[in-house]
Amino acid sequence: MEGRGEAELGSLLEAARGVYRKAFGGDPEIAVSAPGRVNLIGEHTDYNQGFVLPMALQMGTVMVGSPRQDGIISIVTTAEEAEEPKSVQFPVPVEGSALKPGKPHWANYVKGVIQHYRAGPLPGFNVVIASNVPLGGGLSSSASLEVATHTFLQQLCPDDGDPVAKALVCQKAEHTFAMMPCGIMDQFISVMGKEGHALLIDCRSLKTRLVPLSDPNLVVLITNSNIRHTLTGSEYPTRRRQCEEAAKILGKASLREASMTDLEASRSLLSMEVYRRARHVIGEIDRTAKAAEALQSKEYEKFGQLMVESHNSLRDDYEVSCLELDELVTAALEIPGVYGSRMTGGGFGGCTVTLLESTAAEKVLTHIKEKYSRKATFYFSKPSDGAKVHLLP
Ligand code: ADP
Ligand code: MG
Repeated sequence: MEGRGEAELGSLLEAARGVYRKAFGGDPEIAVSAPGRVNLIGEHTDYNQGFVLPMALQMGTVMVGSPRQDGIISIVTTAEEAEEPKSVQFPVPVEGSALKPGKPHWANYVKGVIQHYRAGPLPGFNVVIASNVPLGGGLSSSASLEVATHTFLQQLCPDDGDPVAKALVCQKAEHTFAMMPCGIMDQFISVMGKEGHALLIDCRSLKTRLVPLSDPNLVVLITNSNIRHTLTGSEYPTRRRQCEEAAKILGKASLREASMTDLEASRSLLSMEVYRRARHVIGEIDRTAKAAEALQSKEYEKFGQLMVESHNSLRDDYEVSCLELDELVTAALEIPGVYGSRMTGGGFGGCTVTLLESTAAEKVLTHIKEKYSRKATFYFSKPSDGAKVHLLP
């Protein structure tokens, strides 16, 4: 079991400082962190203008560094999984010489944020990155890296501090430098997360609402299936297209505007597959709104039921689950004290999220280990704060 918390963020900072001293000499002047996230409910709803309900994790990415006077940016990552080389150097971009994505791929997340940063001129700087969010595990190491970078730049050259603009800059970096057309959830929660709260995000208005989740008798368990099915890569764009097609046939700007009644009225105009895709999205948007209310009023049974309905809909209608995720969810639900469990993230592997009574935790781990056909990794996390600046001694 891995329980990575505040203490570990502290040790991550210490490790990053050690690497910094070796790489650059002297002590870093600035230290920041930004968390990874898990989505409690609201899957494949973000690009349909719907609701999502993520929470920020105790796991995160830290960056320590200092400005330098020669206009050079020098970045080192300590991530073992990141491709070589683990350090890059380039001049601060100026007008007429914009940064461009390239190799190594990991540096693109940082470069993209630098390029799209809204204040300037930026000085050069040295920085070391260290993270305890698993890379590519579906807990958004990518957004935590972008948001940590942005937070670091804000210390070098302050902008207006607008959190929404900050999240959007980070999303733009992922779109244009990492070439991943992600929604807004990951960056929003990494910027705006609050200890003891989940965050309901309306992806249409970009309005957010904190929902308390600090009951000491509850725990959120994240189970990493440690599998990622490499599909053709067309699944995500295909799902997006099917949603757009459904909205168009229903005469709506997006599926957010459509009700189940609208969908049933136009059922004969849609192919069975597109109908089922739309049924997931419309149902999931409604479930997420209801789940936020249930959490607010501490109706955990109801919240858990909505999680299970979400999983079943992702499995049967949206068809983005897989055998391994189904196994993990089924095993978790067999233990008394578990309120709900579901796949989380895009699907086809990655993690499940489970809400349970803390007293059931040990039993659930033992049971999942027994039932799962592979080796899972477990993380317990409390809802944590978004990006932070740390004072260095
Ligand atoms: P996820 O966001 O679910 O972890 P992604 O594929 O979106 O998965 O992002 C993972 C990628 O982000 C990594 O392959 C790497 O390029 C980059 N990345 C994340 N954290 C770090 C880090 N600490 N150092 C270097 N690169 C990182
Ligand atoms: Mg990501």
